[in-house]
Amino acid sequence: MKIVSYLVCFYFVFSLPGWSMWKSLLSDDDETLASFAKICAIGPDIEKDDINPHVEYSSNAPSHCRVTIGANLSGYCSNPGCKINGKYVYMQVGKEEYLVRNFQYCVPHKCPECKADVEVRDWGFSRCAFKVLGRKTQGTKVERPWRRADDHYYKISMDDLGPAEYETVKVLYLGPKDTFPNEDDL
Ligand SMILES: [Zn+2]
Repeated sequence: MKIVSYLVCFYFVFSLPGWSMWKSLLSDDDETLASFAKICAIGPDIEKDDINPHVEYSSNAPSHCRVTIGANLSGYCSNPGCKINGKYVYMQVGKEEYLVRNFQYCVPHKCPECKADVEVRDWGFSRCAFKVLGRKTQGTKVERPWRRADDHYYKISMDDLGPAEYETVKVLYLGPKDTFPNEDDL
C-alpha cells in the first residue's frame, strides 16, 4: 500500500497537471521574467498566414507614414504630448538581421514625431524579398517561406493574426526581384 501511495505521489508531481502546480509554486523571479518577456517582445503571430498583407504605396504620405527599404515596424503613438497622439505611425528599421533578440526588440521603435517609445503592433517590408524566422517565448520555432514586397508594401498585421510573444525574430533579405533561393541549398 505504501508503494502504491508513493507511485501515485510521484505521478502527481511529474505528470502535467502536477508539474504545472509545482511550477506555480516557484519563486517570484520566474513570474517577473515571464511578464518582462510579455512586455518587451510582442508582435503579430507569424505561425498563421497573412490574410491581406498588401498595402498601396502613396507618394504623398505624411512624414510619420514613411517607410524604408527592408523592415519597418508600426503601431500607435500614445504620448499625450505628441501632436500626432493616437495616430498610426511607421518606424523605419532597414535590412536588420534581428528584429527581436533575448525577448526584446533590438531595433528602434520610437514615434518619428516625438521620439517616444511606441508599442509595436505590426511588421512590414518594403522593396525587398524577405524570409522571417522566429522563436516564440514558449520555444516554438516558426519558419515562413520567402515573400516579396515589390509593387506593394507587405504588412504582417496583429489585427489579422493576433499577438504572439517572441524570444527571437530573424529576417533574411534579398532584392525585390531576386529569385527565391532553393531551400534545400540553404
Ligand atoms: Zn508621437
